[in-house]
Amino acid sequence: MADYLRDVSDLPVTPAVRPGDILRQLPESPPTAGEPFERLFRDFTEVIMPGMTHWNHPSWFAYFPGNNSPASVLAEMLTAALGAQCMSWATSPAATELEQLTMGWLREMLGLQKGFTGVIQDTASTATLVALISARERATHYSAGREGLAVNGARLTVYASSEAHSSVDKGVKLAGYGQEHLRRVAVDGRYAMKVDALDRMIAGDIEAGLVPACVVATIGSTSSTAVDPVDGIAEICRRRGVWLHVDAAYAGTAAIVPELRHLFLGVDQADSFVFNPHKWMLVNFDCSAYFVRDREALLRTFQVTPEYLRTTQDAEVVNFRDWGIQLGRRFRALKLWFVVRSYGVAGLQALVRKHVALARELAGWIERSPDFELMAPVPLGLVCFRYNPPELGSDDVQLDELNRALLTQVNATRRVHLTHTRLGGRYVIRVAIGQRQTERQHVEEAWRLVQEAAESL
Ligand SMILES: *Cc1c(COP(=O)(O)O)cnc(C)c1O
Repeated sequence: MADYLRDVSDLPVTPAVRPGDILRQLPESPPTAGEPFERLFRDFTEVIMPGMTHWNHPSWFAYFPGNNSPASVLAEMLTAALGAQCMSWATSPAATELEQLTMGWLREMLGLQKGFTGVIQDTASTATLVALISARERATHYSAGREGLAVNGARLTVYASSEAHSSVDKGVKLAGYGQEHLRRVAVDGRYAMKVDALDRMIAGDIEAGLVPACVVATIGSTSSTAVDPVDGIAEICRRRGVWLHVDAAYAGTAAIVPELRHLFLGVDQADSFVFNPHKWMLVNFDCSAYFVRDREALLRTFQVTPEYLRTTQDAEVVNFRDWGIQLGRRFRALKLWFVVRSYGVAGLQALVRKHVALARELAGWIERSPDFELMAPVPLGLVCFRYNPPELGSDDVQLDELNRALLTQVNATRRVHLTHTRLGGRYVIRVAIGQRQTERQHVEEAWRLVQEAAESL
């Protein structure tokens, strides 16, 4: 593991495998007798490793970062060795209390109000589902969980911008709202939710006899790190009594940097807020921080206490099994604690600042190049652009094809990994700068590879 973390930059970022290549090399049935560890580890090295995509490579610019760090890996090993279930205080008191402590630390680091209490969920998808279910319960006076949706739940609606993450669609399906009750609010030229459009949609739905239950605002959208105007959205939610959930899965880490905190204006008025330390805060997957203002709404929604889980301390302690969907819980607070203590707040701030500065620098190179075009603002570590040489005219269909070919060619080098999205219908290449070991030279190389591929097209 130590060798890997030291040498990962020498490996190709992506593997040269085709579908089925790994499966073909492995026996279909399990061994009857146990095998020596040496054989197992040889297969890991020779069959599994060549089929891995290296998210912790410094030239990883795909999706959003999925970082780890030595401190986090060591904590994860200890967690596995302890193998504790952290569902109740009594099933591992230190795990519960460390979760309370570290979530308090995160709240303070992000500058969130004291009114928020935190709990670790596995992913932002789960946290958003938890928020949607809590909103559903509050909007039905806690009757949906008791009587089913048919009585009071059939007329609930949810609002999110057209740029919101797919976990909102999934959550709306699972929480029983029905996808037809998810309203997609229009966005402005910066891909941020239009507050007046939200206001009109909510008013129209109320007039039609529907019950607006939840707005999901995004800080740092997945396609382009667009920032919804949470303060304006919060004002509407307060006026209409609608639950406001803020999804800052990637961007949340940036709130630890004072000069970036302006992106989070209004989050103090949210009912819930989620961000993923497993993206940009050096904590290995999975670790998602969910903060909620009304702890009682959460507990009333999720609490179920069977006799076999009752303990004598229940009145005095926190039982995190009541704070979400799953019963059994991993000891995730340990890696958070190790990381924050190892790097310190200043160390984590420096990392975010470095990535944001590199992204601005790359954005500058793109803006100064006549053949390339920046496709969205760059408030954080993500740069969206496309190749658009002046001699080609501006036929979007043709440019889409050209940029798809460009991306394929760049990724075929296996020296970097970039992904794409669509913004305003146009095919756009994304460079997400946020891996722990990414330095200026890696961004320079990515930009050089993009330019070389463009020349060769
Ligand atoms: C990554 C991301 C998610 C999903 O995160 P998971 O933890 O993988 O569920 C949700 N919302 C946004 C904006 C994201 O960028």
